[in-house]
Amino acid sequence: MSGLDAMHDPPAWHALAACLDHPDVDWFPHRGESTSEAKAICLTCPARRPCRDAGLYEKHGIWGGLSERERRRRSKALGITLIDDITDPTDHHEQEAS
Ligand code: SF4
Repeated sequence: MSGLDAMHDPPAWHALAACLDHPDVDWFPHRGESTSEAKAICLTCPARRPCRDAGLYEKHGIWGGLSERERRRRSKALGITLIDDITDPTDHHEQEAS
């Protein structure tokens, strides 16, 4: 299952997504696990560009051929803040941990 499977109102490019034909591939590899199989499929995907752009707002999984770390770098460079990255300024426990 790719990140696209979780979309409630998928965009038109979703129908072109190559990952939908490869549910056996790990589209959400954990840290240290290989991303190469998923990325190789993304390289052949006609929806790669819009998927890559949409993935800049997603924290988990492979999107547009980019890993979580690669997307996080791009998102940060573009000033995009992911919802999961927002911390509660009143949560002193969180601030002490960072
Ligand atoms: S670029 Fe990769 S993750 Fe995105 S739709 Fe294509 S195969 Fe799926």
